[in-house]
Amino acid sequence: MTTTPPVERRSDRSEPIVRIVGLRKSFGDLEVLKSVSLDIYPGQVVVILGRSGSGKSTMLRCINHLEKPSSGAVIVKGEVVGYRVKGDRLHELRPKEIARQRAATGMVFQAFNLFPHLTVLENLLEAPCRVLGRPAGEVREEAMKLLTSVGLAEKADVYPSTLSGGQQQRVAIARALVMKPSVMLFDEPTSALDPELVGEVLEVMKELARSGMTMIVVTHEIGFARAVADEVVFMAEGRVAEQGPPSQVIDNPQTEATKTFLRSLN
Ligand code: ADP
Ligand code: MG
Repeated sequence: MTTTPPVERRSDRSEPIVRIVGLRKSFGDLEVLKSVSLDIYPGQVVVILGRSGSGKSTMLRCINHLEKPSSGAVIVKGEVVGYRVKGDRLHELRPKEIARQRAATGMVFQAFNLFPHLTVLENLLEAPCRVLGRPAGEVREEAMKLLTSVGLAEKADVYPSTLSGGQQQRVAIARALVMKPSVMLFDEPTSALDPELVGEVLEVMKELARSGMTMIVVTHEIGFARAVADEVVFMAEGRVAEQGPPSQVIDNPQTEATKTFLRSLN
């Protein structure tokens, strides 16, 4: 794996692209998110750390409207996710509108979730054509550019099952990007990979960060967080326990919970 220079970017702090405001989420009696508030600015890379069960995935899923908040709100590019503001009332969006809204946030999961019956290129064409109704001919060129950028142009016509896990995850990233999202959400994108395949996926993510993409990344890859994150958020028991630049949260943690967690990774 070649090493690339550290990522140097400036984010625009004028207006958050994602606002999480007093977000709570319960499953039955279990309160998983206990009033989380977080602002993410254009071009920022925010890495979310925390033990298993601390609510990281649930928070990402609320941003993408895969889960509905119990209270509080997520606002992406000024729009309340899942709702439309009419006068002083909130109206739930219809599934089609939610699909349109969801296109603003690209999500990459731990399990690659590619469509097994479609080729790599067809995987990329699926959402732009079906959700946005764009003609395949027009999307194909953009899709091929993205496959080139993740180093997989020559795999356009093969089926996902013939690819390694690292290659499949790079396709999943390209598939999210083809929707031209304003923010990319990554939920432990390298956790299911064999160790020797982790680097190639992190490289693609670093390149994406370098290009200025706004990213929220749940990961245990501390090296990635140190090199790429503008901000590290440590979650514990459904709350933001600590938040700040990597030099603080990773190298000089303030809370016992953060210290214990970081020790557990070594
Ligand atoms: P993390 O990603 O930090 O490991 P999660 O957000 O996946 O945490 O889960 C937080 C808690 O919520 C866990 O206790 C989990 O079991 C619970 N949980 C998550 N999704 C559901 C669900 N759909 N139904 C019931 N409990 C859930
Ligand atoms: Mg999770």
